[in-house]
Amino acid sequence: MSQGRRERLVQSFPEGIDWMMVGHRANVTYLTGFTGEASYLLLSRQRSFIVSDGRFAEQLATECPGIEVIIRPPAMTTVEAIGQALEQAKARNVAFEATQVTVAEAERLRETAPSVNWVPMRGLVESLRRVKDAQEIEAIRQSIAIAERAFDMFRAMITGKESEKDLVDAMEGYVRRAGGEGTSFPPIVAVGDRSALPHAPPTERRMSDSPFLLLDWGATHRLYCSDLTRILRAAPRNRSLSTAWSEIESRLEKLYTVVLHGQQMALRSIRAGVRAAEVDAAVRAYFEEQGYSKEFNHSLGHGIGLQIHEGPFLRPNSPDVLEAGNVVTVEPGLYLPGFGGVRIEDDVLVHADGGEVLTRASRDWSEAVVIW
Ligand code: ZN
Ligand code: ZN
Repeated sequence: MSQGRRERLVQSFPEGIDWMMVGHRANVTYLTGFTGEASYLLLSRQRSFIVSDGRFAEQLATECPGIEVIIRPPAMTTVEAIGQALEQAKARNVAFEATQVTVAEAERLRETAPSVNWVPMRGLVESLRRVKDAQEIEAIRQSIAIAERAFDMFRAMITGKESEKDLVDAMEGYVRRAGGEGTSFPPIVAVGDRSALPHAPPTERRMSDSPFLLLDWGATHRLYCSDLTRILRAAPRNRSLSTAWSEIESRLEKLYTVVLHGQQMALRSIRAGVRAAEVDAAVRAYFEEQGYSKEFNHSLGHGIGLQIHEGPFLRPNSPDVLEAGNVVTVEPGLYLPGFGGVRIEDDVLVHADGGEVLTRASRDWSEAVVIW
């Protein structure tokens, strides 16, 4: 699997490039199957090798048996070992990831490999990673299933007394209990008006302070991420909602209806060949028509895979065109400062003729209720 990916990368080298140095962790994993860190893949048309250190020798032998490995001596840095190896290989024009290499590392590479011409590149591996193969799609399906099992546990265990921090802790535990390696990012739990902050850090705010909360969470399975957002509404067991809470509920329901409709529009428009910016613009236009011109203050969605945010990006001015095999989130949101926000986020696999929603958790207003 990873050999085919390396071949495709080498075939995509721009004119004049004969080697590439890959150090971005997710890119190295994608191209080699290696799940550790601090290691670089060097590849050309004739040869590829990994430069790493003693901590990973064993793991490299197990995870990527077909690839040559150079373990640097403890007295040398990895960057120095790379320079030396490329100098010995008589490499000339070597591409590197412009967004990964620090200025200090670039200087050291120039010193240790003086005959190499270093060429900064962007997005070469990332553009291959956008189109998922069957194995990757299966890993994402699993990571979604894990996140959804964790969500069921979360809903079942809520007592109403928890703070946002307690709920974040609980979700992290449920994701692991449901079979995940971990969460794909620190979960967001925002109670009541705190949900007006799209990325609210958790506080001591209690669930019982408001009739609703926003939950944004995901799991990883074989390093692949899932990403979902749902609104949960309180239905206290022993009392009916106070008048104040009923008013909040009805205002929230109106907002929810608009966001859900915007999301459904986007989901229906997704298919290969559609411009990502157009999907985003249609939702934005609909919200504006409903009187919300500034309240949708982030992009509509992003690709998921080995990283929680990767291409293609569904946002204004995105140059991306959707392709079969992309897996993207669709997550419109409307945020009213002082009141709260609604975001609904699902994961979608792009096919030639439409989008397949991979997430199963209900988006129905009536099913967003948690009883405690
Ligand atoms: Zn999310
Ligand atoms: Zn997201």
